[in-house]
Amino acid sequence: MVVGMAVLAVAPVWAADKSAVLIVDGQNNHKWAETTPVLKRLLEETGRFRVEVATTPPKSGDMSQFKPEFAKYKVVVSNYNGDAWSASTNAAFEKFVRTGGGFVSYHAADNAFPEWKEFNEMIAVGGWGNRNEQSGPYARFRNGKLVVEQKPGPGGHHGMRHPFQIVVRNPKHPITAGLPEKWMHNIDELYDSLRGPAQHIDLLATAFSEPSTKGTGEHEPMLFTVRYGKGRVFHTTLGHDVEAMRCVGFIVTLQRGTEWAATGKVTSKVPADFPTADTVKLR
Ligand code: ZN
Repeated sequence: MVVGMAVLAVAPVWAADKSAVLIVDGQNNHKWAETTPVLKRLLEETGRFRVEVATTPPKSGDMSQFKPEFAKYKVVVSNYNGDAWSASTNAAFEKFVRTGGGFVSYHAADNAFPEWKEFNEMIAVGGWGNRNEQSGPYARFRNGKLVVEQKPGPGGHHGMRHPFQIVVRNPKHPITAGLPEKWMHNIDELYDSLRGPAQHIDLLATAFSEPSTKGTGEHEPMLFTVRYGKGRVFHTTLGHDVEAMRCVGFIVTLQRGTEWAATGKVTSKVPADFPTADTVKLR
């Protein structure tokens, strides 16, 4: 009897403690059907999230049927890069984030919706989709700070895939607090030349885009947050495929970034297997 009551008293508290997460997918030039289950598992294994998935119709499908109830969730994680959503779904998503919802833009999610002004304000910078100087400036890290550069050219590029070093530029943010200043990321695409409105960015980490791997010779933004109304946005450019997602640095920053976007706080400690300045660590 006593045991039963204790279970009844504890269980709902534990459940209520979890933040509801919605992953959106369904179209992507990447293998979303492989990566969404990994995103879901990585978030669920923290014990802090209850994760659901909303999948759009396939390309050229009837997008009027895609209308998730964003307001039921604390944070939306996008693994989507495809056809435009309906005007009403766009409006619902804008309202969700503007009024305090969390949003995580994962890898090619920042390729999506080049024509959607509010979405581009949320991600701050994006790539491909015919983005160019009309989309806004380039954002890079030079002389110790984030700078924007308004020169003509395409938005979005990456060189050859390779392991590369991430450098933390803001160690005071909850997402990066306690992480080593430099850590090796597993083989991945190093996005460069992203461009967009580039407003309200808190740059957390960069990577040097080596000319020898067909990069730009610039320190490119890899992880950053964006303020959009009352909403918190975490933007990770990392995680091209399931191999890149095995990097403990990717895993920890995804988990922490999602928690921060959901609640404004990060409660997890840095794990013992976090990568070092010269060694990739995988799970
Ligand atoms: Zn990719």
